[in-house]
Amino acid sequence: MEHLSVAAAQRCVLESVKSLGIESVKLEQSLGRALAGDILANRDQPPYDVSAMDGFALRGADVENAPAVLAIIEDIKAGDMPTKLLAAGQCARIMIGAPVPQGADAVIRVEDTQAVSDTQVQINCAVKLGNDIRLRGESMCKGDVVLHAGTEITPGVAGLLAMVKRAEVSVYRQPRVAILSTGDELEGLNDPFDANKIPDANSYALMAQVQTLGIQPVLLGIALDNPDELHRALQSGLQYDVLLVSGGTSVGVHDYVRPTLEALGVQMKFWRVEMKPGHPVAFGITANTFVFGLPGNPVSSMVCFEQFVLPALRRMMGHVRIYRRTIAARLTHDVKHKHSRAEFVRVMLSKEENGYAVISTGAQGSGMLSSMAEADGLMVVPAASKGLAADSRVTVQLLDGTAFQNDAGGEW
Ligand code: AMP
Ligand code: MG
Repeated sequence: MEHLSVAAAQRCVLESVKSLGIESVKLEQSLGRALAGDILANRDQPPYDVSAMDGFALRGADVENAPAVLAIIEDIKAGDMPTKLLAAGQCARIMIGAPVPQGADAVIRVEDTQAVSDTQVQINCAVKLGNDIRLRGESMCKGDVVLHAGTEITPGVAGLLAMVKRAEVSVYRQPRVAILSTGDELEGLNDPFDANKIPDANSYALMAQVQTLGIQPVLLGIALDNPDELHRALQSGLQYDVLLVSGGTSVGVHDYVRPTLEALGVQMKFWRVEMKPGHPVAFGITANTFVFGLPGNPVSSMVCFEQFVLPALRRMMGHVRIYRRTIAARLTHDVKHKHSRAEFVRVMLSKEENGYAVISTGAQGSGMLSSMAEADGLMVVPAASKGLAADSRVTVQLLDGTAFQNDAGGEW
């Protein structure tokens, strides 16, 4: 099997995954989900011409030669309907959001008026026709598509859905994700302390990465490097939509993950990608499950999650924006690059006059989780790069976990 570039491996993954089924959820439980269909306006908004200001509804012709004194014929609050027709020389006190009475063709804000008596007001300046009136249907007209399928439900989208009275929304189902760590050397979080063991960090780092997407994964625990046990553990993982297994994907004699997956009927699509960290990353499919074999080194496993698992999960969730948001920023130091793999460097960002400055978090060993803990993003050094000089513009994948974009931001 050939060694793929990151972009080619990403394409391979994304060609295989599609959105899952559709379900209906309550609006108040829909944050972060993707709409499964277009949303149409159920009525005109505003439903009638309304005032955009607290002030007076009037006839523009009456105040052409302002100042002018007008008779106040009624008070219209938001929620009221006007009861009177406005005739020449008359106005109505009106509150923001209240319907404009018939006969009026403009609103003037209260700041441009002066009280004369309870029943009269002086208008201090002339107004243009339609001034401070929000027209019926200005925000949306009945039948308009107000949101497209695939839109992520953000707070603004939730408000708009409430505006069109969607108490229940049709969204894509979330993938069920299982996480399995493998390795004889691993010690579980709640196992007794053993000085000779390595704590299982991957289960929890991967779990948190999945949780940032709004999915609650299932931890399958630790499987020992023994073919029978791995067989059992991987088999139970194949009941999920997505199985993330870390460790044992390399070429060591005890790296049984790949052959065991194949024995379980998983069709392997790739098991090597030209990237650093993260070279031994595998991807395979069955009729119902997508399997990612992630490298055991904690940083490698997290970086591979970012490049392959995250866009796959987002696509399964029906999102249109499936990639991490990238920004262009200024590198503050040289970066050597002497191999032909795309490199993902953990970096910190700081604001400067024309954008952001990028600085490496320091030593980049693929087991050094502290550098991942400090990182604001992953700076991409493309496979073909001969090194990056200080002050060059670089691409950084943001790790803040909230914003996504339509494309990968480049090809590496
Ligand atoms: P492997 O990919 O199994 O060869 O593992 C590569 C390195 O990552 C080894 O040093 C492992 O001890 C380490 N490692 C594997 N799995 C985990 C894990 N779940 N948590 C922390 N380190 C791990
Ligand atoms: Mg191992």
